[in-house]
Amino acid sequence: MNRHNPIGSGTPRSFLSTWTGLRRLLGGFSELIFPQVCLVCESTSKAPLCASCADGFSRITSPVCEKCGKPCERPVADCRECRGKHLHFTLARSGGAYTGSLKSAIHSLKYKNGKRLAAYLSRFVDDEAGRLMEAVDAIAFVPLSKLKEAERGYNQSGLLARHLARRYNKPLYTKLAKVKNIPEQHRLGFAQRGDNVKGAFRAFGKVPERVLLIDDVYTTGSTASECASALKQRGAAVVYVLTVARTPLDVSRGDRRRAVVDSCKCR
Ligand SMILES: [Zn+2]
Ligand SMILES: [Zn+2]
Repeated sequence: MNRHNPIGSGTPRSFLSTWTGLRRLLGGFSELIFPQVCLVCESTSKAPLCASCADGFSRITSPVCEKCGKPCERPVADCRECRGKHLHFTLARSGGAYTGSLKSAIHSLKYKNGKRLAAYLSRFVDDEAGRLMEAVDAIAFVPLSKLKEAERGYNQSGLLARHLARRYNKPLYTKLAKVKNIPEQHRLGFAQRGDNVKGAFRAFGKVPERVLLIDDVYTTGSTASECASALKQRGAAVVYVLTVARTPLDVSRGDRRRAVVDSCKCR
């Protein structure tokens, strides 16, 4: 071996073994410095979400309110949460309850740069997505204000929508915009949210006839309804809404959240 060339000229096997060793060493260091962890509980996990956190998701199952997707004791056309509200979307469905590890996962997706969770969370709503996808021409998503999107660097609902559009081979409609600066919905009581979002969204260009609107969380339905209204003003005939999670309300107990998905004894 040439003393001035540690790789050893003309000795490819020696070069390969040196390179492989170096790669292993660097790989080991990178795992020591940046260990792969679950983005929710921070336990060691090769996937962005560990099995224990994924198992903790509380899935919403039938029967649900036909209109807003609230879990009910039996199928109903509307429920005490959506009855009497003028909701502009055709129907809304959600994957799970906004609680426990699902709530933490969405929090991580939005506020902790947990973009790697978007693919996983988009698959979590696959059952509902699969049922709705045949009846839609395009996928849209709830926009953030330009300032908020610039601060965050991405729109979490946009990421979810992109994964779904790719998987189901649907065009993505990206011209729904937030045109009014308003206080964030989660900072307001449920009663004020409807007025707060009025006129906050606008659609541009031609909107396809049947649209699936994606958002991360459904709370009162006000945001989804205003987006649906904006889409309809530019040509949509029906707007379905699909969210990863849903915050259950119990209007009989006033304006406060419930920690679990309760069964609505409607009618
Ligand atoms: Zn975990
Ligand atoms: Zn309902």
